[in-house]
Amino acid sequence: MPDSNPVIIESGGAGQPFNYAVGLHGSLFLQELRDNRRFMAVRCPRCGKVYIPPRRVCGACFVEMDDFVEVGPQGTIGTFTILRYAFIDPETGEQKPVPYGYGFIRLDGADTLFQHYIDIQDESKLVIGARVEPVFADARKGTVKDIEYFTIID
Ligand SMILES: [Zn+2]
Repeated sequence: MPDSNPVIIESGGAGQPFNYAVGLHGSLFLQELRDNRRFMAVRCPRCGKVYIPPRRVCGACFVEMDDFVEVGPQGTIGTFTILRYAFIDPETGEQKPVPYGYGFIRLDGADTLFQHYIDIQDESKLVIGARVEPVFADARKGTVKDIEYFTIID
């Protein structure tokens, strides 16, 4: 019979002592978020698909892409979840506060879905197709966390 007292393992502050390059496309994407609060995507010159975040090569055509286009900042929820089960956040080593919303957002003008947190103050408004816009951090550092979350605007 299972013990009713759960085992809790704390990892403490999870050090992640490494850096990695995000590449030219990733750098432009993060710099524009940080400096101008703009979402820069890239368009395939062959099929026209618009990728956000931008990537170097079109997955369908295998051609290099460098035609940057601004998308968003508003978009539509493509799918979402509400996380209610507490777990250790690998980025911090601390238990992540729950509940919180997470979703895949189709920014206006983009063909791919962008993943991020979604505000769930009113869960009744959290539906596929809901319109959202980003809330940016006041102090931006050039990471995807420069967007704090998306909020529903309908
Ligand atoms: Zn293509």
